[in-house]
Amino acid sequence: MSVPQAEIDRRVMLLTNALRGQGLRLTHQRSEIVKVIAKTDEHPDVEQLYQQVRETVPTVSLDTIYRTMGTLADLGLVSRVSVGSGPTRYDANAERHHHFVCTRCGLMADVSDSELDELRSPERISALGEVESVEVQFKGVCRTCAARTTTVS
Ligand SMILES: [Zn+2]
Ligand SMILES: [Zn+2]
Repeated sequence: MSVPQAEIDRRVMLLTNALRGQGLRLTHQRSEIVKVIAKTDEHPDVEQLYQQVRETVPTVSLDTIYRTMGTLADLGLVSRVSVGSGPTRYDANAERHHHFVCTRCGLMADVSDSELDELRSPERISALGEVESVEVQFKGVCRTCAARTTTVS
């Protein structure tokens, strides 16, 4: 699975315009961070983004990644997703979707399904508050991890 080039270009445009709109200069570092998050569908955490951005910008700091992603997330252009107690991960896919998460390797894959989008909320939720969106997280063992187990035993 990979993000189509046209979609990557669209995201890069959207994110860079947003940063400029915040009065931030589009430094080489920031534009590389944007490129990395725009082209991935792997939901990286800050540490993984850092490793990837460092390949083209060796001087980038973890803090710059944190702050840039924080700005983009606060603007609602990337979403923060977390799995259990793991680190916050970032998602530049703005389309409505759900996730499959591997509990062994942490793989997180996008799942689009209109029936899930229409998922009815249990009535008792109305006593707690108003539901604005529903995101389903399927947890299990991915094919790669499952194959690995079979080879070992
Ligand atoms: Zn896995
Ligand atoms: Zn996603």
